[in-house]
Amino acid sequence: MKNKCWVIKIGSALLTNNGKGIDKGLIANWVEQIVDLKNQNIDVILVSSGSIVEGMKRLNWNEKPDDIHKLQAAAAVGQMGLIEAYESLFARHDIHTAQVLLTRDNLTDSKRFENITSTLENLLEFGTVPVINENDTVATEEIKFGDNDTLAALVTNLMNADRLIILTDQHGVFDDDPRNNSDAVLIDKIHYQDERLEKVAGRGGSSIGSGGMYSKVMAAKTATESNTPTCIAWGREERVLTRIFEGQHIGTIIHC
Ligand code: GLU
Repeated sequence: MKNKCWVIKIGSALLTNNGKGIDKGLIANWVEQIVDLKNQNIDVILVSSGSIVEGMKRLNWNEKPDDIHKLQAAAAVGQMGLIEAYESLFARHDIHTAQVLLTRDNLTDSKRFENITSTLENLLEFGTVPVINENDTVATEEIKFGDNDTLAALVTNLMNADRLIILTDQHGVFDDDPRNNSDAVLIDKIHYQDERLEKVAGRGGSSIGSGGMYSKVMAAKTATESNTPTCIAWGREERVLTRIFEGQHIGTIIHC
């Protein structure tokens, strides 16, 4: 029987502990859970942000520069830390990771689309965990709208994945902005066409991550093209991935 496939996207603010640097302890937790998922015949593709933030830390920059080429340089530096962290933590479980850098353009060109699909299929077949990020050196638009959320949704559709999980530093989608309204309530389940969704998502991102809740909601809508539900959940929630696998309700599920 064909394995199931989950695409798991991890955001910068979460992964770097709000800019402090790659949180290896946190990643080690997810890695253990992903190993368990793999043992249950679930293939996992990671889409990981964090390279720019990690690069800024390595280069001792306190503020995010506006200059796109400085951001690209920071991404190139930080990507090394990112892959080192994933590779070393998965190696403890005898699992190889594979670095895949993509731009959105790559996913609209049919020949490249085919190449990417075949490569990812092979990587999963070989038992590796592909770790995807934007190819920030060339992807200026993406850096501006910081959108690994979109990339994760496109990869979900490309692989016909069974689930898209977006791990973030928020608990999910609220019925109002929880930063301004302490009475805001977490929406646990919502249809992708429900008009509350776009309204409540808001456009603002944090200064660390760049997409904000809006791009996550948009990504969830995109993922419905392959009939895939999305779960947006707080990445620090205990055993978050294992509990989702067990069918527990965590964060917000955006369904088709
Ligand atoms: N690709 C960038 C990074 O890894 C940013 C992606 C995003 O924030 O969505 O830092």
